[in-house]
Amino acid sequence: MSSGRHKPDSATSKDTPKVVPKAVVSRLSLYLRELHHLIAAGHATTSSGQLGQQLGFRDAQVRRDLAYFGHFGQPGVGYRCDELVAAIRKILGTDREWRVAMIGVGNLGRALLGYKGFGSQGFRIVAAFDVDLAKTGQKIEGVPVFPLDDLPQMVRDQQIELGLVAVPATAAQHAADRLVAAGVSGILNFAPVTLNLPDRVSHVGVDLATELEQLCFSVANRRPEP
Ligand code: ATP
Repeated sequence: MSSGRHKPDSATSKDTPKVVPKAVVSRLSLYLRELHHLIAAGHATTSSGQLGQQLGFRDAQVRRDLAYFGHFGQPGVGYRCDELVAAIRKILGTDREWRVAMIGVGNLGRALLGYKGFGSQGFRIVAAFDVDLAKTGQKIEGVPVFPLDDLPQMVRDQQIELGLVAVPATAAQHAADRLVAAGVSGILNFAPVTLNLPDRVSHVGVDLATELEQLCFSVANRRPEP
């Protein structure tokens, strides 16, 4: 997992670097998503209260989270939505394009290649890889599929920095090791297994079945309404 240390740059804060809790960084992504909804609904400005409302956060929480990174907005006016979007993107590092490789083009990999939400957030899947040579040599959703052995050269030539792992759990560590050896610096792992990776590589796991399990627990243990 990536460390929680974030170094604000001079455009967002002149303060000394602080250790930013992971939960704050997670909420930044939610604020960004909410800002996109507000802009789509025609809002040019917003307030901490409005930004937090849909997400179930108090205005003080929103202010405290943003204060980690500098001073945003003006008293009485609030935040300009476009300015706050730009600032949060800069903080998250998504104010530029990230070139991404997909490993595994089974059902999940193919579905992810068709997902438009990555492109709109600046993530560009430039190549996919699979060990099954029957699946290579084609394009899926416009993305060329290569044999896994081509990974190091493609990472170099295409300046790929991130990898998505959509292979079975039994193959995920192997796929991740190949990504690391090829030189990527971050991995989003969709396989239901915990990866063992060097500290220099950030990684996040998305296990949809575990998420459903958590939901299940919450539903099963819901107290009856008074
Ligand atoms: P399909 O029926 O098309 O194979 P699936 O979703 O059932 O789809 P999975 O068994 O989940 O396929 O595997 C996902 C993909 O990961 C497959 O295309 C498989 O060839 C590929 N794969 C398996 N091991 C690796 C690996 N080590 N590196 C790269 N790709 C791999």
